Amino acid sequence: MTSFNPADVRLPYSHFIGGKAINSGEKMDVIRPSDGQAYASVSIADMDLVDHAVENAWQAFKQSNWATQSPRDRAKVMKRWADLIAADVAVLAPLEAMGSTRPISAATQWDIPFCAEGIRFFAEYADKCGGEVIPTANGSLGMTITEPYGVIGAIAPWNFPLVMASWKIAPAMAAGNAVVLKPSEMTPFSVVRLAELAIEAGIPPGIFNVVQGDGLVGDAICRHPRISKVTFTGSTKTGALIMKACAETGTKPVTLELGGKSPQLVFDDIKNIDKVARRIAGAITTNAGQVCVAGSRLLVQKGIAEQLVSRISEIFSEMVSGPTWQDNTTLSPIISAKEVGRIDGVVQRTVQQGGEVLVGGCPLNKDNHFFYTPTILTNVNMSMEAVRDEIFGPVLCVETFETEDEALNLASHPSYGLSAGLHTADLNRAMRMVKALEAGTVWVNRYGRSWDFAIPTGGFKSSGIGKDLGRYAYEANQKTKSVLIDFTEDDE
Ligand code: NAD
Repeated sequence: MTSFNPADVRLPYSHFIGGKAINSGEKMDVIRPSDGQAYASVSIADMDLVDHAVENAWQAFKQSNWATQSPRDRAKVMKRWADLIAADVAVLAPLEAMGSTRPISAATQWDIPFCAEGIRFFAEYADKCGGEVIPTANGSLGMTITEPYGVIGAIAPWNFPLVMASWKIAPAMAAGNAVVLKPSEMTPFSVVRLAELAIEAGIPPGIFNVVQGDGLVGDAICRHPRISKVTFTGSTKTGALIMKACAETGTKPVTLELGGKSPQLVFDDIKNIDKVARRIAGAITTNAGQVCVAGSRLLVQKGIAEQLVSRISEIFSEMVSGPTWQDNTTLSPIISAKEVGRIDGVVQRTVQQGGEVLVGGCPLNKDNHFFYTPTILTNVNMSMEAVRDEIFGPVLCVETFETEDEALNLASHPSYGLSAGLHTADLNRAMRMVKALEAGTVWVNRYGRSWDFAIPTGGFKSSGIGKDLGRYAYEANQKTKSVLIDFTEDDE
């Protein structure tokens, strides 16, 4: 898709409950990051509306045939939904791009088709993943039966509004649950379009509901007595609050996809320094670094450090910042002015602690909107804020090492363990490092996810609990019931 005029984008209503679009509740301005304009207002759900949404979901779960129909039929409807989403790219891509940090070219080529394909992927589990027969004594049959939870609360972040939401709702719905989704208050609208298309595809009203609001609304969803499980993507801090809310209101299971501070390790045996430089740069500048798995710490073997970093600086300087509705934009805006200030604060405090700015190190004052210059910090270590804390901006911290052990020491983060990248031509070394790195995902000679939805994603330590994607994500949306049947005549 080419550039578009944001004034031409039709905005859906705010909430979507029981198959109906609703505008009710106090209004809140929504600011678009590309030019800082309040382009719309969204209605914020009050507690009654949250209750209404969860009750609708519960009734749909109980009364529609969503959970009880043949799983193959459920899969067919989900696939029809995915097809409608893919075919709706001309509506969905501008809607997603306009109010978020996703440039239109990326939204068209990745976000929308990736969201659709993810739904297809999970639909296929519906009739392929169930219980098992357990070996038991002769005269008895032991087995497990899988069942949907009922209503699942899904809470999503703003950085990839549609894709992050789809990773929550698709496995939940494919497994037969109803869902109440709360998107981020900063990117509320595109998921409502998904809900409209769900109805068009034949998903029963009430199986997929959207309510809008901030953390208070998210908290109310987590605490609602009819919610049986919560699946969340967002910051580690919010993840802890959600765990607490779920523990206090029924010991509800949680899936938490949280923050990270992921290392990219480069050894001096790499064959093509330019290719690796592009990969490293892409891992920290995609979506302007507002990616949970952003490769924000470059750990490079001393002999090639200067050459690699200099090439990365050149690649940074080629990036084109611009509004998300311009088709040649490669550097996304930062989500809000507040976030630009926060990112800059971390950089400046790190400089005061002795860190050095090699390139960037300041907001990119493009017509006063929300952009941050791709930045490289050197002379840094784990005691400094920029190395330790998740920045969620295009800031790369560079440290050097000589030995594998040093590299592993530097890679280890005191609390995060989301992902790691490894660049080496030595297979034995790669395997040693893969085993030793404390990360939920390790990419070797690549960085970032592929279209292999079967590969689960999720963090170690404070980066999360459970997995999105893969069979694990599907199974986490079902309860397991154990059954033991005796069929010995003596018991008659
Ligand atoms: P956030 O934690 O501020 O908000 C996420 C969502 O939680 C929003 O919808 C928000 O309204 C809601 N929320 C806030 N307080 C709540 C509460 N007390 N109870 C229930 N819901 C509440 O995160 P964000 O700023 O939207 O997203 C950025 C963060 O998300 C980063 O830390 C990033 O690393 C993380 N993230 C992780 C992954 C992953 O797969 N691990 C993917 C994307 C983003």
